Amino acid sequence: MFLTQKRHIALISVSGDPAAEIGQEEAGGQNVYVRQIGEMLASQGWQVDMFTRRNAPEQPMIVQHQPNCRTIRLQAGPAEFIGRDVLFDYLPRFVEAFQSFQRQQKISYSLLHTHYWLSSWVGMELRRQQPSLVQVHTYHSLGAIKYQAISDIPPIGSKRLAVERTCLETVSCTVATSPQEQEHMRSHVSTQGHVQMIPCGTDIERFGHITRAEARQLLGIPQTDKTALYVGRFDPRKGIETLVRAMAQSKLRGQENLRLIIGGGSRPGTCDGIERDRIEAIVHELGMSDMTHFPGRLGPENLHLYYAAADVSVVPSHYEPFGLVPIEAMASCTPVVGSDVGGLQYTVIPEATGLLVPPKDVDGFATAIDRILSNPTWRDQLGQAGRQRVETNFSWQGVASHLGQLYMQLLSEAALKTSSVAEPAPEAPKPVEKKAAVAVA
Ligand code: UDP
Repeated sequence: MFLTQKRHIALISVSGDPAAEIGQEEAGGQNVYVRQIGEMLASQGWQVDMFTRRNAPEQPMIVQHQPNCRTIRLQAGPAEFIGRDVLFDYLPRFVEAFQSFQRQQKISYSLLHTHYWLSSWVGMELRRQQPSLVQVHTYHSLGAIKYQAISDIPPIGSKRLAVERTCLETVSCTVATSPQEQEHMRSHVSTQGHVQMIPCGTDIERFGHITRAEARQLLGIPQTDKTALYVGRFDPRKGIETLVRAMAQSKLRGQENLRLIIGGGSRPGTCDGIERDRIEAIVHELGMSDMTHFPGRLGPENLHLYYAAADVSVVPSHYEPFGLVPIEAMASCTPVVGSDVGGLQYTVIPEATGLLVPPKDVDGFATAIDRILSNPTWRDQLGQAGRQRVETNFSWQGVASHLGQLYMQLLSEAALKTSSVAEPAPEAPKPVEKKAAVAVA
């Protein structure tokens, strides 16, 4: 039996609100991914509800994005920001709130797509209560890999590793967003469970439709400036310090008219605010304050302009399961210099759409950035090839179609299983006692 009717599905992203402003603390790729696939799946015929946790009292409970796509903010604990490392304790309340929403609205979701390990626990708990549910999971970050790169593993670390393992082994399907992430799951989490590789995507209409010269004019960036751009959250794992030190080296090596733009939001006193202060102090200490700009959070009105205006987009992360920023830059015809890690090894083709350098290698980053800044013709060739690569492989529309096919296949398999349980094969022995039949059901 293959289902043809698209159903009501729930995307669960406890820690990444799809309706949030992107670029601030803990709001990054996961939020963008959930929102984009949610909207795209809805336009492809699914009824999509995206669940997250309400983390500010002024937030509306429901945000309708499109007729068939909305964000639902469930009350689970105080309506305030709670960091991911301490959110686990609130998950049972999230499950209760989800169940009561389902009951009140008389909706029965047939498929859950959970995001990040915290939501995987929610999905597994919902499945325990309702075993017919199909669960698809995307990690967005793997504890087993992340913890290799940091010295201060949080107390919740061992719980996270255990949940990630159970999830991989028991959900209907785990989506890896790059071959590298798939390999990491197998080598560091478990060899059991079903995995399918479906990459992340980007908006190929929004990015790539303005020239460098026009974008610079709109942003007031001199046409002669050699401009390197960072876009993302302020998080030590993102390696912004490597970029700043690399630019200082380029300057020492004689590159002129250098400009460094570090885009991303932060709120004073929060973790990303602390990282931003640290980066600003390094910029100051290296005598780079004149050439470095912090425009703050880049929103829908100007993000595409910054990507288009840059000569090179730099992604110096220590670990990146996929990385939306590199494909956004490539979609904007801007070459990428990135760390030779994770999903960047999949999205960036060295010497064709950008360059890859070992993480934290300041010399290596300086050399790679210099090579691109010194050769505008090559820069443009890399940029064109990047745009083509994104158009072919990484549009949200294509990504959502793949996910939709996967959902249909899993729902069909689940329906088959249910019907074969409901209709025993003719030769199956009849239950002898009524009591036994009840126990089996
Ligand atoms: N972003 C944004 N404005 C900013 C900073 C970041 O819109 O000021 C977006 C960026 O364009 C990308 C996402 O946040 O879509 C970051 O995703 P990525 O996968 O690169 O990193 P993550 O945040 O998941 O670690």
